[in-house]
Amino acid sequence: MDSLQINQRLIMTPGPVLVDPRVSQAMSNQILGQFDPDFTAIMNDTMALIRQSFATKNRWAFPVDGTSRAGLEAVVSSIVCPGDSVLVPSIGRFGDLFVELAQRAGGVVHTVSAPWGTVLAQADIIAAIDQYRPKVVCMVHGETSTGRLQPLDKIGAAVHQYGGFLVVDAVASYMGTPVLVDQWQIDAAVGGAQKCLAIPAGITPITFNDRFAAEINQRKRVEQGVRTSQDHLSAAPLITSNYLDLTQLQDYWSPRRLNHHTEATAAVYGLHEGLRLALDEGLDARYARHLQVHQALNTALSALGLTIYGAGDHEMPMVTCVQIPAGLDGEAFRSQLLAQFGVEISSSFGSLQGKIWRIGTMGYVAQKPFILKFIALFGAALLQAGVPVDLKAGLDAVLDAFAPKSAPQLRQVNA
Ligand SMILES: *Cc1c(COP(=O)(O)O)cnc(C)c1O
Repeated sequence: MDSLQINQRLIMTPGPVLVDPRVSQAMSNQILGQFDPDFTAIMNDTMALIRQSFATKNRWAFPVDGTSRAGLEAVVSSIVCPGDSVLVPSIGRFGDLFVELAQRAGGVVHTVSAPWGTVLAQADIIAAIDQYRPKVVCMVHGETSTGRLQPLDKIGAAVHQYGGFLVVDAVASYMGTPVLVDQWQIDAAVGGAQKCLAIPAGITPITFNDRFAAEINQRKRVEQGVRTSQDHLSAAPLITSNYLDLTQLQDYWSPRRLNHHTEATAAVYGLHEGLRLALDEGLDARYARHLQVHQALNTALSALGLTIYGAGDHEMPMVTCVQIPAGLDGEAFRSQLLAQFGVEISSSFGSLQGKIWRIGTMGYVAQKPFILKFIALFGAALLQAGVPVDLKAGLDAVLDAFAPKSAPQLRQVNA
């Protein structure tokens, strides 16, 4: 068999995304044993980087091995006991995923929802909290399926009035727009790898506070083979997952170094390097870059002659939703765009399927050369498909958007 031949792609989806070559390089380092002091030092550094990335002082900040869904499932299945009241404000597909995860954990789930493409008013969420007094509120910050950024800075305080916990899916927004865990009083937050952090999928940074840790540790049961006389057997309902049991993961990510799973050391190298690059860039600069690129893309798509879906209405600054031109088969076009031009964009889900495409500008691709190349190829593909777009106007819009704001004036020099 031949070795793998990977074709060049320009991935402009809301994940997975192109990876900075420096991350790939870090991941190709020699494997270390998971209890090697060299490696546990890297673990501790990675925890410090995760804390900074979430703007938190939480002691507990570590990665869960698995894609972001594993991080979400770890948090939900550790905090939700059978019979617990859970409120899920949902504005799209990933809100519905929280419903699913909480139900599987045995929670009694209440929802408050808004039509796809809109966000919920925080006052409406707080009214539902007052009504149900839930133990857990699960919310999505960046709802990737509809491209909406759900405001949630006031929810934590409302949940805490009744002694509850706020869990946030920040998978898509993390590292592309502020996720202020302490300031917004979030009890547990889940970030993403293959979104704005732009590292390969398979590892998920999370954080939770001491109050959350105390709650889940009432259910702690260290597995038999590694249990000591110090480990008491809890009478509370067991956390049903062993792999995603946060209480045992805590013991691996702290001086006890409990032998739980085999750590995905190469993934930790990648996470460490991705976070290092992000913090080196500066989080504020990184957020500003995502916003600038998002605005440039929106302007360019409009200049082509396309219509932005939900323009200006709580748009995520890393996902652009654009209406599929009337009469065009959106899926056939996407296939052509990939096969002929090497460019990948996304469709959507549910009621938005067939109506919009979603274009991601996450992490490494959120840079001028990629956006310029994208508009050139996407516009050309649309022209080929018979959609009369104004390609020059689209390209001008990108160039304009990235032109230095105070371009030096050319002064006429008199001879
Ligand atoms: C991508 C995404 C997920 C799922 O992440 P996986 O890595 O595919 O498991 C969850 N929530 C949101 C908001 C996402 O964008």
